Amino acid sequence: MAQAARTATSSPAGNAAHPFFVDGKWIWEKNYPPGVTWNAVIAPRPLPELLEHAAKEFADNIFCDFAGKAMTYAEALNTVNRIAKGLQDLGVKKGVNVGLFLPNSPHSILFHYGVLKAGGTVVNYNPLYVGRELASQAADSKTAIMVTVDTPDLRAKADGLLGKASLEKIILCPAEDGATVSEDAAHIAYDTLVQNDGAFNAPAIDAENDIAVLQYTGGTTGTPKGAMLTHANVHANVEQVCRWINDVAAPGKETIVGVLPFFHVFAMTVVMHCSIRLGKKILIHHKFDLKDVLHSLKAHKPTFFPAVPAVFNALANCPDVTPEDFASLKFCITGGAPMPADVQRLFEEKTGCKALREAYGLTEASPAVTFNPPTDKARPGSVGLPLPGTVVDIVHPETGALQPPGEKGEVCVHGPQVMKGYYNKEDETARVIEADGRLRTGDVGYIDEDGFLHLVDRLKDLIIVRGYNVYPRVVEEAIYLHPAVEECIVAGVPDDTRGETVRAWVKPAAGKTLTEGELNTFLEDKISAIERPRKIIIRDEPLPKTAVGKLSKKDLLAQEGIERKR
Ligand code: AMP
Repeated sequence: MAQAARTATSSPAGNAAHPFFVDGKWIWEKNYPPGVTWNAVIAPRPLPELLEHAAKEFADNIFCDFAGKAMTYAEALNTVNRIAKGLQDLGVKKGVNVGLFLPNSPHSILFHYGVLKAGGTVVNYNPLYVGRELASQAADSKTAIMVTVDTPDLRAKADGLLGKASLEKIILCPAEDGATVSEDAAHIAYDTLVQNDGAFNAPAIDAENDIAVLQYTGGTTGTPKGAMLTHANVHANVEQVCRWINDVAAPGKETIVGVLPFFHVFAMTVVMHCSIRLGKKILIHHKFDLKDVLHSLKAHKPTFFPAVPAVFNALANCPDVTPEDFASLKFCITGGAPMPADVQRLFEEKTGCKALREAYGLTEASPAVTFNPPTDKARPGSVGLPLPGTVVDIVHPETGALQPPGEKGEVCVHGPQVMKGYYNKEDETARVIEADGRLRTGDVGYIDEDGFLHLVDRLKDLIIVRGYNVYPRVVEEAIYLHPAVEECIVAGVPDDTRGETVRAWVKPAAGKTLTEGELNTFLEDKISAIERPRKIIIRDEPLPKTAVGKLSKKDLLAQEGIERKR
């Protein structure tokens, strides 16, 4: 069941007993951006309204720019309506799951809205999936129709699913070379799909119960599962974020860099939906390419730039960047992975851009939970304040008690953005969503006296050395302080006598050299002996990353053949 936010007024007795509710207010409210209130109503609404509203308000504004081609908001709505009608003619309605197996392009957004308008549910797929991963997600989600691009690689992978699981049809968008798409009973060309008048049958969307998207995630246990995000969940998160940045975003006047992959929840909500809600121009990038991004900054003068820390790290370490390239940016958002304080400092120094703010979220919360304010109250090193309508509890891992400010525990979340559950996985759902709708994130952190959340680590990444807790993030932060370090991952490695030992993998910045001994000496006065890595591996090649660009501990350990016991 979708859960409503706990509000300051609906449960005064409960809130009064809460360690973060003091003198009739949440402790984070005092640091909110001007004009933003914690308990303003967030009405549950269907997502397609965002585009309909934008197409009315900003009809002739550019909606997106991709490979030099632009499209207005009015054109986008017209295309989306025709996609919706084409999909309905193929049988899409409530309860039908449509897969988007697409690299970033206007089609990624247009089909997302087309599926929702037709009444269906979007299943986002990583376009880099190999056949086995694709097949497992398609079977789990019962994807009936798959939308992809007519390139040999993507088409072959999608074709591999036909006649298996529930897949009946494949819609093929034209490849960049513009070659004609060959059709048959199972394959429909995009041009054929949209050959209609756009008069689709508008379904009655029940925002609080209808699933807008099945967003696959490893979650805290690692097994991929589909987080059921309702229209109301995602819409609430869009409202929460847009209200938060109200003072820095002028509706209809902003341009945003769309370099994060739209199949990932961060880009889906923050780049796609929030931009549409505010009538922004989206500069769509096929993938992250440093040169392309620098060109885009110079040519289009974007005002918003959301990305994962690895992207800001790459920009900060790029010798070609100048503060002029970044002069147009009003607001940069980072999240999805820890932003080392040192990388933030280097980014600010190299680019002159002081507008980088860190947020925190997870797939199960659509995703944003906390956000640093776009004001001078932002606190580097913290992931910000709970968004409007959101309560963060810090829970003692053994006793379940609510922790006071400053004390560490599991980060748990109440709010209208918290998912309905995992698709067809009641046991997994029960492990993370409690009876009152509270989400257990599996992250460890604390809330300080001023309401800022500080993440310490993920519970499952915790390293236990001779019974002592070592948080890899603390070790990584210390390593990043070394000026020659560009990337670093710290993880626990099984050890017969100590239980686990701390190991670090480090990639030096271009043109810099580093030795294990040098780094060991550097760490001596920065972290305790128990935290210092027993082994540091210096690698010339970049460390592995997930499709969204987060450094991937999981892939690194797999490459190294290390299996953790916990
Ligand atoms: P996903 O659901 O794949 O987006 O992953 C969510 C996880 O990413 C969270 O549970 C956190 O462990 C991590 N994460 C998200 N944002 C941050 C952040 N700002 N700092 C550190 N870790 C983060």
